[in-house]
Amino acid sequence: MTQPKFARVGLVGIGLINSSLARVLRREKLAGEIVACARRQETLDKAMELGICDRVTTDPAAAAKDADLVVLGTPLSAYAEIARLVGPALKPGAIVTDVGSVKQAVIRDIAPHIPAGAHFVPGHPVAGTEHSGPASGFAELFHDRWCILTPSAETDAGALATVTALWQAAGMRVVTMDAEHHDLVLAMTSHLPHLIAYTIVGTATDLEDTLKSEVIKFSAGGFRDFTRIAASDPVMWRDIFLNNREAVLELLQRFSEDLTALQRAIRWGEGQKLEDLFTRTRAVRRSIIEAKQA
Ligand code: NAP
Repeated sequence: MTQPKFARVGLVGIGLINSSLARVLRREKLAGEIVACARRQETLDKAMELGICDRVTTDPAAAAKDADLVVLGTPLSAYAEIARLVGPALKPGAIVTDVGSVKQAVIRDIAPHIPAGAHFVPGHPVAGTEHSGPASGFAELFHDRWCILTPSAETDAGALATVTALWQAAGMRVVTMDAEHHDLVLAMTSHLPHLIAYTIVGTATDLEDTLKSEVIKFSAGGFRDFTRIAASDPVMWRDIFLNNREAVLELLQRFSEDLTALQRAIRWGEGQKLEDLFTRTRAVRRSIIEAKQA
C-alpha cells in the first residue's frame, strides 16, 4: 500500500474525528501543512496548542485554498453552507471528502458545490467515542475499524483510491457501499441504539427526584452503559436523526413491533420465547468480539 502525500490538507471542523485524523496525518507524515477551521477561537487555540495543525482559520474557504485534500468534519447541519463556501476556493484536482455519519443527505448538501475539476468522495469512518472537541481525539481511534466510502458511478477513481489509502494509513479497513444502503445499515447499528439510549436515560430523568437518585446510585446494572451512549454530543445526534429520518423511522417501526412482542411474552409468562431471544442475542455479542469490533 502506497501512502498518500498531501502538500496541504484543510480540516473543516477540528473535533473528535478530524483532530484524530490530524494526529494520523502527523504520525504518518502525510501532510506538508495542516490548516484547521472551526467557528470558535477557543477551539482553534486548543488545536494549535495540541500541535495537530500548522495554521488555523474561521473561514472554510481559507482552509480549502490551495489544499490538495479538504476533509469536512462538522455537525451535518453545517455541511451545505461550508460546501458553498469551500467550492469556489478549491484548486483543480483537489479532493473533498467528509466524515459524516449519514451519507445520502451529505451528498445532497455537498455534491452540487464541487466544481468541475475537483473531486468529492463521501466517507464515514465508523469509529468514535462519546467525547467531542480537539482534545478528545487520538490517532488510534481508527485502528482496526471500518471506513465506509459511498462513491457514485461518477466519482473519480484516482480520488477514491487516494481517500481509501488515507483511511488505510489510519489503520482502517475500507469498504465501498451505496449511500442508501449505508444509511440503512448505520440506522440499525448506530442510530437506533443511540435513540434507545437517549429514551431510557430521558425516562429515568423524568422520574421523581427520589427514584432518580436511586437510579444514579444503583446504575451499575445496565443503565450505566446507556448513560455513556446518551452522553454523546446533542447537536451531532440531532443532525443525524434529522438527516436519516426515513431509515431511522423504518427501523424504529420494526423495533416497536419486536418490543410489543416481548411485552406480550412477559405478560403471558412465555419464558421460552424470552430465553430463545436472549440466547440468540448472546451469540451476536460473541460474533462481534470474534470480529474484533467489541
Ligand atoms: P465534534 O467533536 O463536536 O467537533 C465538531 C467540530 O466542528 C468542532 O471543531 C466545531 O468547532 C466545528 N464546527 C461546528 N460548526 C462549524 C461551522 N459551521 N464551521 C466550521 N466549523 C464548525 O464532532 P465530531 O464528533 O468530530 O463529529 C464530526 C462529524 O463526524 C459529524 O458529522 C459526525 O456525524 C461524524 N462522526 C462522528 C463520530 C463520533 O462518534 N463522534 C463518528 C463518526 C463520524 P467549534 O468548537 O468552533 O464549534
